[in-house]
Amino acid sequence: MSARIIDGKALAAGIREDVAQRAKALRAQGITAGLAVVLVGDDPASHVYVRNKAQACEKAGLYSREIRLAADTPQATLLDVIEGLNADPAIHGILVQLPLPAPLDANQVIAAIAADKDVDGFHISNVGLLMTGQPRFIPCTPYGVMKMLESEKVVLRGAEAVVVGASNIVGKPMAMLLLAQGATVTLCNSKTRDLAAQTRRADVLVVATGRPNMIRSDMIKPGAIVIDVGINRLPDGRLTGDVAFDESCAVAGAITPVPGGVGPMTIAMLLVNTIEAAERSLSHTPLL
Ligand code: NDP
Repeated sequence: MSARIIDGKALAAGIREDVAQRAKALRAQGITAGLAVVLVGDDPASHVYVRNKAQACEKAGLYSREIRLAADTPQATLLDVIEGLNADPAIHGILVQLPLPAPLDANQVIAAIAADKDVDGFHISNVGLLMTGQPRFIPCTPYGVMKMLESEKVVLRGAEAVVVGASNIVGKPMAMLLLAQGATVTLCNSKTRDLAAQTRRADVLVVATGRPNMIRSDMIKPGAIVIDVGINRLPDGRLTGDVAFDESCAVAGAITPVPGGVGPMTIAMLLVNTIEAAERSLSHTPLL
């Protein structure tokens, strides 16, 4: 058996095209959707992510503003920058690239972002809305995974879904989204006893640990849908996921590659959230 490869790049291209159409329609009404990306410090990976996000915005006809701050920027200055963006009518979405350099407090910074501009979906009011089944902004990575499962026509109702990794930005919202679609969800972390016993039950397996190739083929149920969120740089410079790809292709029913899987979807969903924020600003939908 050889798994179907889920082409995140192609799927993301279609979503970006749709965003471009919506951006055009908004421009006809006098609004250019705008995203501000705040980058503090000089983490090389963060620089690459921010550049990719800005380029994707521009290609889709969105306005993008990059705000680069020195690593030693005081917390108060960063909060002032966020306040300015909250009040700026040209900006509909605000994203602060994580991780922030120490000693900056990411929780306080995220809390300062206006909830209706929080296109990353990390503000506690957006987290609470997702948790209670009334999502406003869904975090981009798990949102992209859901779109992939939708495109594969995966039946989630009653399915066994196992999520490995329980971070606030990927694993936890992922589990909530799968649960909302009727899956029976198991959320695993680094303390899970006998991880393989959990993953082998999964009809849908989502892995987001940052541990290269930790999921081996004998941990996968034959025919399972395997979504690899991990992006890890190996010592030789190559990128790899959290799932041992080649051997897993022989067992899984469908699998995402790294690169070219979840990564492009994350950026596409950021554009979707930004265009939604801009559309909402037009209709003046009140905040919940
Ligand atoms: P975090 O480091 O915040 O969280 C990792 C999670 O994995 C934690 O819950 C941790 O458990 C768990 N974990 C670690 N080791 C194991 C293990 N051996 N067995 C089971 N669980 C384990 O990572 P993120 O969620 O931010 O990112 C995860 C990966 O996804 C990274 O490779 C990152 O680069 C990638 N990523 C990719 C994105 C994309 O667009 N494709 C976007 C965001 C992230 P515990 O809670 O017990 O510590």
